[in-house]
Amino acid sequence: MKLINYLIIQIIPFLPKIFVRLVASPYIAGITDDEMLTNVKKLNDKGYDVAIDILGEHVATKEEAAEITKRYANLYDRIALQDLDANLSIKLTHIGQDLGYDLVKDNLMILIDAAKKHDNFLRLDMENSPYTSETINLYKKVFENYSNVGIVLQAYMHRSMDDIDTLANEMFNVRICKGIYVENENIAYRGYQKIRDNYIALVQRALIKGSYVGIASHDEYLIDKLYIWIKENKISTSQYEFQILHGVPMEKKLQQLIKEGNKVRVYVPYGDNWYDYSIRRLKENPKMAGYIIKNIFSKIFSR
Ligand SMILES: Cc1cc2nc3c(=O)[nH]c(=O)nc-3n(C[C@H](O)[C@H](O)[C@H](O)COP(=O)(O)OP(=O)(O)OC[C@H]3O[C@@H](n4cnc5c(N)ncnc54)[C@H](O)[C@@H]3O)c2cc1C
Repeated sequence: MKLINYLIIQIIPFLPKIFVRLVASPYIAGITDDEMLTNVKKLNDKGYDVAIDILGEHVATKEEAAEITKRYANLYDRIALQDLDANLSIKLTHIGQDLGYDLVKDNLMILIDAAKKHDNFLRLDMENSPYTSETINLYKKVFENYSNVGIVLQAYMHRSMDDIDTLANEMFNVRICKGIYVENENIAYRGYQKIRDNYIALVQRALIKGSYVGIASHDEYLIDKLYIWIKENKISTSQYEFQILHGVPMEKKLQQLIKEGNKVRVYVPYGDNWYDYSIRRLKENPKMAGYIIKNIFSKIFSR
């Protein structure tokens, strides 16, 4: 079965896009704002908070960067209008980080003002290592204007513990994830367990320092270990939340966490740029592609 799943993943990029769309559809919350907002409402009704992400990164022109910034800013209005439990999570390269510091800072300030207007929150996703230091510097800059902003640190990066030590305090809001990009071993851990161990250490250090932590992982080993530690150390439920990606099948576990008084946030990506994101997610979990394809064929053949 593992070999079949592996082969499916190798073949998927060569298949028609319509097929990839079908296989990847659980990961994407729609193409339009309206489709996505309908899905956010459904998730809220099931007890989940949401972080919205417009799919895409590395825009090539300042016009594109301005358009995405405007689209994000409008989302804060729509979230408020529809009274949704949702904030935004953006990639700085999507609002122009490759086009210069001043441009990305100006666009970021537009989003900070929009978030402020609605007392909402903005998180800066963490991209690959050439962007890490500048992302942290921009975070610090906008934090001076508005404290309802957060950042992401990646457990595979050697530097993350130092970053926690420098940044973490009672006002610091951090999502901790394993890290998705391919990084050089000079700067990033490679071993699966080594990354897990660092993940646990980072979350614990941030919580001990009084920060708010988004525990972003589907790794049940991490979720269970950290949850036990959180309970043993009497960490308040107002100091952390669990975060998962839309479409990852963990409903039973998440509903149990919500029942026990924990906040669970679903990261909801949507938009036209669904293709690259879908391939990335399917590569992360070939089993998912296998199940879905089996399902499609069993439906076709049971007609
Ligand atoms: C809310 C959220 C935000 C994120 N933001 C960032 C970011 O800003 N920067 C960044 O570099 N990375 C980000 N990531 C990605 C993250 O770094 C990991 O690459 C990704 O979450 C997989 O790691 P894992 O902790 O789930 O563990 P893994 O070891 O990859 O997975 C553990 C188990 O979870 C299940 N699983 C994992 N992925 C999937 C999937 N796609 N579909 C179905 N099942 C799956 C599998 O059963 C797997 O065995 C984010 C992840 C989440 C959940």
